[in-house]
Amino acid sequence: MGQVIKGKPVADAITQSIVKDVEALKAKGIAPKLKIVRVGSREDDLAYERGALTRMDKCGILAEVLELPLDIPQADFVKELKAVNDDPTVHGILLFRPLPKHLNMDEIKFVVEPVKDIDCMNPINAAKVFEGDKTGYPPCTSQACMEILDHYGIEIQGKKVTVVGRSMVVGKPLAMLLLDKNATVTVCHSRTTDLPAVCRDAEVVVAAVGKAEMVKSDFINQGAVVIDVGINVNAEGNLCGDVKFDECVDKASMITPVPAGVGSVTTSVLAKHVVKACKIINNI
Ligand code: NAP
Repeated sequence: MGQVIKGKPVADAITQSIVKDVEALKAKGIAPKLKIVRVGSREDDLAYERGALTRMDKCGILAEVLELPLDIPQADFVKELKAVNDDPTVHGILLFRPLPKHLNMDEIKFVVEPVKDIDCMNPINAAKVFEGDKTGYPPCTSQACMEILDHYGIEIQGKKVTVVGRSMVVGKPLAMLLLDKNATVTVCHSRTTDLPAVCRDAEVVVAAVGKAEMVKSDFINQGAVVIDVGINVNAEGNLCGDVKFDECVDKASMITPVPAGVGSVTTSVLAKHVVKACKIINNI
């Protein structure tokens, strides 16, 4: 049976180092601050928000939430977001997405300046991830996968890594982060032919599909590492990942669970990004 690699030890280690950074900033009279911007009250946004607020508190980072109505017009939304961006006490901004359909992301994604855009909404930060420029911020979830690999000493240089999913919030940026660490990366999607065979060829499989328990044991090579990014609800109404854990755990050498896996690391990465933004803004 494979080792179950949980997110908590990773999150705790990141938090520990952030606490020290925040203390040093406070000693200089600087208080790092996160602003969360939420439109409406979707349950998954609220759940993530609770986790983020708790994590910021543990790290000593100030955090505020701006809640906006679901029917807010585009111009008003842009005005509100600009005001948050222009607030000199705010260092990092997290905007929950997807936004309601009437709001136009083509304009909105440029409103938060890159230095405060800590979850990679602005295309300038996406470009930085693709260029390997470390001054930007990869999306927190992609970075959380990298933190898990690093924390558990999983060497990826020269390894065959298959990422299932090519979204701009997880799959594509993660592929670039893995490439930057010299992995040989294959990116799969809904039109991939014989997905199980492509996954079986990999030494590390990352599932970021959004389909409950789709990745079965025939996708996994004996001894492969499995990172499950998915957050889904199964037929029984329970939280589950994109990987059929019970089947894959016997074949994998290491596997992340859901819940308590990748999802537990993302808010720590968020906190790390707030501190990084705060340092850049203050020329530290
Ligand atoms: P998404 O935007 O819906 O993208 C899903 C990707 O999976 C797409 O690239 C899609 O391919 C691919 N896909 C869909 N069905 C497939 C199939 N049958 N075979 C192969 N590929 C398939 O989802 P996302 O935002 O990237 O999120 C992915 C999962 O991660 C979701 O479960 C989400 O809840 C979870 N998530 C977790 C966290 C966390 O903190 N743990 C954060 C964000 C997201 P096409 O491009 O061809 O359509």
